[in-house]
Amino acid sequence: MTGVPTFSTPFSFLGLLRLQSEASIHIAGIPLDIGTTNRSGARFGPPAIRTASRMLVDGDHPHWWIDPAALPVADIGDFDIALGDIPESLALIEQQAAEHAHLIALGGEHTISLPLLRALAAKAGAPLALVHFDAHVDTWPDNFGQVYAHGSVFFHAIEEGLIDPRRMVQIGIRSPVQKDVYDWTLGKGVTIVGAQDVHHYGAQAVAQRVTEVIGNVPAYLSFDIDCLDPAFAPGTGTPEIGGLASWQAQAILRRLDTLTFAGMDVVEVAPAYDTAEITALAAATMVWEYLALVGRNTA
Ligand code: MN
Ligand code: MN
Repeated sequence: MTGVPTFSTPFSFLGLLRLQSEASIHIAGIPLDIGTTNRSGARFGPPAIRTASRMLVDGDHPHWWIDPAALPVADIGDFDIALGDIPESLALIEQQAAEHAHLIALGGEHTISLPLLRALAAKAGAPLALVHFDAHVDTWPDNFGQVYAHGSVFFHAIEEGLIDPRRMVQIGIRSPVQKDVYDWTLGKGVTIVGAQDVHHYGAQAVAQRVTEVIGNVPAYLSFDIDCLDPAFAPGTGTPEIGGLASWQAQAILRRLDTLTFAGMDVVEVAPAYDTAEITALAAATMVWEYLALVGRNTA
């Protein structure tokens, strides 16, 4: 083993110092958290995820046998947001996201997925498929009266035609939810795989269901860290027990190798509630899994 020890690695994602112009995949932090409905603090997610990612630089991915840090990936820093202003922040995020072909966003709260999907769908010229890990459906029409907040991101994404709900799978769902919201989601054609379904049927069956539903249209991966059980990801704003173990999420992701991914985000990491960096490490590792998955044929 050569190079610097993990703890001396630069504080960017995977220690990457590559220029944006040298990379085809760009990683950006988006420190927005004023649309959270419970505990805030995800604005500090990006630096925590970057710091934890430096654990992952000392070898190849042990399934795909590539080093994600060797891929043409650049950490471009954080997007600008408008402090205290959700609509203006969403406009700014969309504008900045439009400049990148393949973007991985480090949240921030889940609301950021809406402008990211607006930018991506505009580029694609068609609705995207969506793989959505979460404890929550996030299809509430509003959040305690607030139209744009982290619990309504996919209500708007569906209503705006950014994603095709018949090619959308939610994995890990288990929070309290109004039945009319749940039924609206199902009625739109969304496939909901509850956390209990993951535990009962296993990663292989879930991944097979995802690949059947998504098919081969361009897909977006949105990973809310609260899909994981609070035992594996306590550092988040709206924890729900009974969730996925980290290994279950990894096992599902590794089986999505027939999908064509166009982008990813990992959201809702709130380091103030974290313990021993386990939530930030889980988030960083899911990005690392994604990079290995999408880059495995290019290395
Ligand atoms: Mn959630
Ligand atoms: Mn969410």
